[in-house]
Amino acid sequence: MSQTGHSLLVMKFGGTNMGDAAAIRHSASLAARSVDEGVKVIVVVSAMAGVTNQLLKIADDAQKGDIAAANDEIAAMRTRHFTAAQELGASPDSAAVREIREMHETLRQAVYGVYLLRELTPRSRDLIVAFGERLSAPLMSLALEQSGRRAKHLTGGEAGILTDTNFGNAKPLPTTYERIKDRLSGFMAAGVIPVVSGFMGETEKGAITTLGRGGTDFSATIIGKALHADEVWGWKDVDGVMSADPRVVADARNVDTLSYGEVMELAYFGAKVLHPLAVTPLQDSGIPLRLKNSRDPDFPGTLVQAEPNNDQAHPVKAVTAIRNVSLINVTGAGALGVPQVVASLFDAIARVNITLLMVSQSSSMSNVSIAVQSGDAERTLSALREVGGDLRIEEQDGVAVLAIVGSGMRGQKGVSARMFTALADADVNILMISQGSSELNVSVAINGAEVDQATRAVHAAFRLNEAPVAAD
Ligand code: ADP
Ligand code: ASP
Ligand code: MG
Repeated sequence: MSQTGHSLLVMKFGGTNMGDAAAIRHSASLAARSVDEGVKVIVVVSAMAGVTNQLLKIADDAQKGDIAAANDEIAAMRTRHFTAAQELGASPDSAAVREIREMHETLRQAVYGVYLLRELTPRSRDLIVAFGERLSAPLMSLALEQSGRRAKHLTGGEAGILTDTNFGNAKPLPTTYERIKDRLSGFMAAGVIPVVSGFMGETEKGAITTLGRGGTDFSATIIGKALHADEVWGWKDVDGVMSADPRVVADARNVDTLSYGEVMELAYFGAKVLHPLAVTPLQDSGIPLRLKNSRDPDFPGTLVQAEPNNDQAHPVKAVTAIRNVSLINVTGAGALGVPQVVASLFDAIARVNITLLMVSQSSSMSNVSIAVQSGDAERTLSALREVGGDLRIEEQDGVAVLAIVGSGMRGQKGVSARMFTALADADVNILMISQGSSELNVSVAINGAEVDQATRAVHAAFRLNEAPVAAD
């Protein structure tokens, strides 16, 4: 056991922390620091910053027939990975450089296949997009080796991450945990640091899947659960979870403690800092997740654990927003009074696997409103139209959903009122309101153009820029 009392940590490094050779070297030094204290560390890495978006564009270009653009992008990406490998000490004829070259060649072939077929299935998109993480793992191994540690990089599948076949948003299968333990224990016993490509897994038949955007957080917690880690550490470019998106609210503060439930709500309502399902593997075992700033490693960051830490002065801990939302309003005076009709609306949406951000039904039962991501609006509309009857369906786009989150608001009066007053004072009109029955959040739909000003107003109204008051 180390000086800090930990014996096993899973450390996740995101895109910024893998941005170039210098960033990767710094990330490796953070892992090495714990290794030197006697902690066994498993490293999970994201793609180099920007690479995932670039791969998605390459896949789209190929599908549209623009293979020249796709190949140019692949070449640029190859140079970036080669440069990083070289700067991390790999010679041009080293195994690492050869592996990176071969991966780019396979990527080029996969992209060419999409171009020939002019078809991009979720399955081929996953194969292509997972190359970002597959390519960055050898770079982390190089950096660890350069600092004198032994490391072994593995794809998500090789590390034992087995998923369902829901390409683009795959979930781990129950057997994955035993498998990860089997695959990784040997390396750890031999003093070798496993470096796992995040974001990706594999189906039972060996097809590559991805876990949804931001999925490296999820990979890390899946591995944390499998290995009974003491903690999972997500290294970030911010001080952990902040009281609002720091790009929008300049005086946002770090939130020191959050419960699993609170962080899930925050992530679900748009806080990009964590994958919405990331804490789910940790909930049963109570393994804490810590989000830390790689530029300030001694700062404790945010601790995510089973119990919330409520301070009376701050019933709300953070405010977040989802942009690019559409509201869909279904009216039909007589029809909606019939419970089966409402049920069939939700049935139709569930069949096309769409996430509902907000739902509200008027008490006169003449109207049902739902909020969905604008990218899902078309599919939602066609699913609803299939329900038939004399329903009128209208869409309003350019909307945003703003949410306040905090378990301290449970049973506290006046929290919603404070939010509504802040919005009214900032001249922001509320289009729809909903409160989760868990009372962990209150969310409102507003005009998308007003989302930043609304976020700042609500942040100020709940005094989230002020230090928390210690609980007795
Ligand atoms: P990583 O690649 O390390 O996973 P991300 O870019 O996915 O990092 O997430 C971190 C970013 O999330 C921060 O740089 C910040 O801009 C953004 N962000 C949005 N909302 C929040 C929030 N409430 N707290 C912290 N960061 C947030
Ligand atoms: N690289 C992936 C993404 O950009 C996964 C991650 O960063 O966690 O979504
Ligand atoms: Mg992320």
